[in-house]
Amino acid sequence: MTSILKTPGEAGNLSFISGVVKINGYALRDYQYFCDVFSGKIVDSSAVKLKSIVVHELTHLMDLATTNWGVEYTLRKVNMYESRGLEDFRSKFEVFMLNQSEIVSHNYVSSRVAGRSVKDYTTLKHGLTNHEDYGPIIVIIYYCGSEEICRVPLSMLSLLEAHATAEEYLAKSTGFGNSEDGFISLRLMKTEYSELINDDSSLEYSLLLNIVNTHFKELFEFEEELRFISALSRFSLDVSGFSLSGISKYYVKRFQNREVGADLCMDMCRGMSRQVIFFLTTLHIYEYLDVCSDVESNILKNLLKSEPFKAIVYFYEVILGISQDQGLNDYEFSLGLKFMPDHGALPDKKFFTSIANKNRVILNDNCLSDIYDELHYPRITLEDGTEVEVGRVIEGEHNQFVVDNKYIYTEIEKIYMSSRHVKFYPVPGTGLEFFKKNGLSL
Ligand SMILES: [Zn+2]
Repeated sequence: MTSILKTPGEAGNLSFISGVVKINGYALRDYQYFCDVFSGKIVDSSAVKLKSIVVHELTHLMDLATTNWGVEYTLRKVNMYESRGLEDFRSKFEVFMLNQSEIVSHNYVSSRVAGRSVKDYTTLKHGLTNHEDYGPIIVIIYYCGSEEICRVPLSMLSLLEAHATAEEYLAKSTGFGNSEDGFISLRLMKTEYSELINDDSSLEYSLLLNIVNTHFKELFEFEEELRFISALSRFSLDVSGFSLSGISKYYVKRFQNREVGADLCMDMCRGMSRQVIFFLTTLHIYEYLDVCSDVESNILKNLLKSEPFKAIVYFYEVILGISQDQGLNDYEFSLGLKFMPDHGALPDKKFFTSIANKNRVILNDNCLSDIYDELHYPRITLEDGTEVEVGRVIEGEHNQFVVDNKYIYTEIEKIYMSSRHVKFYPVPGTGLEFFKKNGLSL
């Protein structure tokens, strides 16, 4: 149905504007096969692969429907659409673009030196820059020795894809382990994962996977690494604006490039650039483990390996002294849903509320792949429009609404395509002043 505002990927996608998950390469003829795979009747390697693709796309859906980032994205999209033809439409569009530009910035900012491949990288470094269209951003630079190979922006897309890819491989890993013919598949899957994180054409998928792998390959077993990536993704996407401000104030003093670092942290104080939390948390945990005592190190390492969701909160709250309150995360999330219109042109409030009510609490401290059967999902769509159930079902007419009202989604895409894809941001260099006025000595 939609073609532009969606996740990338050939096997399937999630439309950010309709919330519909589509799986490609399957049609009505495969209906019974889906029933057999998702009811557990077929448990071979092909079934595990199909389930892992579905898990990838459902992770995108849960990020959109059950996190503070997702509810903000949808609320801003709804506000923008409801204000079409009104005086404040332009400002509503620009606010929606705060979120959407962080996804698309990946496509506009990546660059690679011709003839070089990320396979050759020996070091990763990062730099800060004030980009003309996207404001303050972090760019990761892959080096082979002293020679630059490529630059990849730390975008929201890289966070969303890291989360979905980690869950996809976790579903494969646990699934192959339980399947009838999974032993060889398990080995091949680990090779495939290594290839993915060194693939030039998949840098949006691999950037944060690479960052974690580079820093923690000594610490984590394969599945532990995936669970840590998933937990940190969820934390970054769902942490309340209040906590985000506290975290930003902590990091603002730690950038070498003080000026752009302060601009970036100011952006985080308005709830943006959540992907930076993932990146800084990884680096900072790594540095902490290097300098803390053996006792402290063992406590955190054990938590990271066994309970990564708790470990991240423990790191911020107990070690860094930055308060983390799940109640505040929940409160902000409920406000986002509350502010959506009950009877607007889009049925998003009803659709996303039904998904969040069933799943949000469980996902707050579990990987989707580990509790797949406990969650509830709307029906997903195959390539020819056939709807299939992929677990416990959330009943509703949402998919039919999207089919019957195609013009709404086409209109949103037309609005989007007719405007520049940029993010508005404060004047570069004003971040330092902002934090000084808020009582920080920088
Ligand atoms: Zn994806």
